[in-house]
Amino acid sequence: MRQHIAAAFMLAAAAPLGAQAAWVAISSDAARRIEIDPASVQKEDGNRHVALGRILFEKELVDPRSSENYKSIEALTRYDCSLRTFATLKRTWRKADGELLREEEVRSVAELPVRSGSLEDKLLREVCRPRSAVAAQGAAAKLAERADAAAGDLRRANEAMIQQQVNKEIRKNVKTATLPVAEGGAAPAAAAPAPKPAAAPAPAPVAAAPQPAARPAPKPRPAPVAAPAVEPTRSYANIPWSYEGEGGPDHWGKLKPEYATCASGKRQSPIDIRDGIRVDQPAIEFSWRPSQFRIVDNGHSVQVAVGGSSIGLLGKTYELLHLHFHRPSEERVNGRSFEMSAHFVHKSEDGRLAVVAVLMERGEENSFVQTLWNYLPLEKNEDVTPPNVVVDPAKFLPADHSYYTYMGSLTTPPCTENVQWLVLKQPVPVSAEQIAIFSRLYRNNARPIQPSFGRLIKESR
Ligand SMILES: [Zn+2]
Repeated sequence: MRQHIAAAFMLAAAAPLGAQAAWVAISSDAARRIEIDPASVQKEDGNRHVALGRILFEKELVDPRSSENYKSIEALTRYDCSLRTFATLKRTWRKADGELLREEEVRSVAELPVRSGSLEDKLLREVCRPRSAVAAQGAAAKLAERADAAAGDLRRANEAMIQQQVNKEIRKNVKTATLPVAEGGAAPAAAAPAPKPAAAPAPAPVAAAPQPAARPAPKPRPAPVAAPAVEPTRSYANIPWSYEGEGGPDHWGKLKPEYATCASGKRQSPIDIRDGIRVDQPAIEFSWRPSQFRIVDNGHSVQVAVGGSSIGLLGKTYELLHLHFHRPSEERVNGRSFEMSAHFVHKSEDGRLAVVAVLMERGEENSFVQTLWNYLPLEKNEDVTPPNVVVDPAKFLPADHSYYTYMGSLTTPPCTENVQWLVLKQPVPVSAEQIAIFSRLYRNNARPIQPSFGRLIKESR
């Protein structure tokens, strides 16, 4: 097996990073396009071929690891044309200008069956077709024409795959886990579209990240491959972060080197908000608009992406990336916590994060929350985008927009600092029943209070 991987990586390395790849669409919808570079298809041995493909997103998404935007995920994938299986070998996240954001080599490569009619099926047929340049183009064009329905599967499948690998790796006690999703960095799934116009599509090597379709956990024919020599981290490295137990908040800083700030940071969130200086603060200019939404239970919270909303603060505009909920509220005010809170994560063009926190206390039914709860996905990591349903986040806001503000961090790994918190002083109501519904999913998904280290807190007077 080792030589297969080696060959695959050599192939990737051989493909120059330039605008070399001639991407051909296999499937597309409004949000993303699945493409393959037919010229990248290489016979590895026997009936196996390795190919480069990618998901090109219509809008930039935020990488939860780095909190930076990416525009495409490329994947190097091996297809077995006779067994009809595939295995993803490597994924590469790229920015809008094609610049490399990060790469991830898949450690325990699993051969997964290709289901008829799935997106992988289309890719496999493309890859396994007898090579002929002209025919390749023609067939690809035909495929592109028919591309539609399967498109949405890919990202879901991608997440399922990542999760599957995580689980698998945990089970096998192997060295690396992959577990994205952070406060500021929406999961690829639910990441709200960042506003920037698309720059030139990513050039580059590496193939499609096609995955198995989400649910039907196929019996993977395990094809473990010796992982390239990469750092084995510490013994904590196999544990995904969570809110209790070994992966709980006290251990976040040890789970991965990237999470070190969770333990060492001096400007962490949440904090107990007290002793703020009372001043006339600039208004938060809310431009929250009604829009359709995408909702996902990402395993840490219920997260919702909406489009077209932003806030303005001191002349700077921050786009709303997504919102999610905590129970109980993470922030405290003079020691008091609330039943729940909602975090509206915003990001400015220059990458600054600002989170608007709305405290929620028991009271009347909340219509904004109810609409979201009506469409709670049945499964984790499978998002729902209800057609023709609109929510208006502005209706969720309390009447009084006065707020506390301080500099803190994401409250989930990697606990990135330099986040401006805007905690609205007036809570909004949420009914006992609505709280109970969230509690069925997340009884406690609040990070404990962090030391404030004398940080300045300002408060609207
Ligand atoms: Zn949060």
